Amino acid sequence: MTTILRVESLRKEFRKTGGLLDKWFKRSGTVLYAVDGVTFSLEAGETLGLVGESGCGKSTVSRTLMRLYEPTDGTITFLGQDITSSDEKSLRKVRKYMQMVFQDPYSSLNPRMTVREMLAETIRFHQICSNEQEQNEYIDFLLERVGLHTKDADKYPKAFSGGQRQRIGIARAIAVKPKLLIADEPVSALDVSVQAHILNLLEDLKKEFALSLIFISHDLSVVKYISDRVAVMYLGRIVEIGTTAEIFQQPAHPYTQALLSAVPRLDQVRQETIGLAGDPPSPYMQHAGCPFVTRCPKRMQLCETESPPVYEAGETHRVSCHLMADEGYRPSFS
Ligand code: SF4
Ligand code: MG
Repeated sequence: MTTILRVESLRKEFRKTGGLLDKWFKRSGTVLYAVDGVTFSLEAGETLGLVGESGCGKSTVSRTLMRLYEPTDGTITFLGQDITSSDEKSLRKVRKYMQMVFQDPYSSLNPRMTVREMLAETIRFHQICSNEQEQNEYIDFLLERVGLHTKDADKYPKAFSGGQRQRIGIARAIAVKPKLLIADEPVSALDVSVQAHILNLLEDLKKEFALSLIFISHDLSVVKYISDRVAVMYLGRIVEIGTTAEIFQQPAHPYTQALLSAVPRLDQVRQETIGLAGDPPSPYMQHAGCPFVTRCPKRMQLCETESPPVYEAGETHRVSCHLMADEGYRPSFS
């Protein structure tokens, strides 16, 4: 397998600027630790689900990967190239291969441009077609491929439903023939009936274009459906990562267990919901111990003072929790 993306110890801090963003800093402190040491890799053709409650840093990870935010620390290697601090010119070349699909397709579509104009803009910017006829044929191909009509090309975004707009957003993303698609809550704003269609479309395109996918969602059932592997985030960190089967059948981190216990399951008559008492600690402060300690039903004294290392619970399964030591697992160094 080919690793197309490798993220190591990625950190993103936002600092008080004296500007508009300062309302975020009102509560305390001057630094927001949004992403606090995230490590993972992604193979060609693989779908990694990134899951966690809102505010856990999922979107910040994706925007930092796209270099829409400058990383504070760590490294991002994409298609074998270290892009952590690439300048705008070299970034432009690789960015083409990394495209994003957003939660709210409407706000990412220019209301004053037709679908054709929007797609043409992207196609021209990345020099995909050599003349106008080829470009129009390519636009027809893209629209049909995402389940729209070719006659939709000359309509404006307001003529479309939420699901259709998401299809336009997807058409624009695949127009540049990316290797990696980052989809940030792509179905959260859609009706449940429409969600399945968009998920199936993403699956089909992934196979057809040999795409890798980072699929961000707070919805565990959606993540389970689409992902090969799943990373669970809490307070800017990945607390558990493994294959979809490992995460859903043998969740080892108390936070993953609590998240899963809240999802109704058809194969169980009754299950205990693990309540999460307490608030997450402030993301404006650095914590000595485990970030989950204020809400963890299994916390021990050690958890207050020592940050848990990442344990290897299996070849593909990593868990950041002190309990893993009692189970005989060893810290991972990869
Ligand atoms: Fe809970 Fe401690 Fe494990 Fe953190 S390290 S998840 S507080 S048991
Ligand atoms: Mg988000």
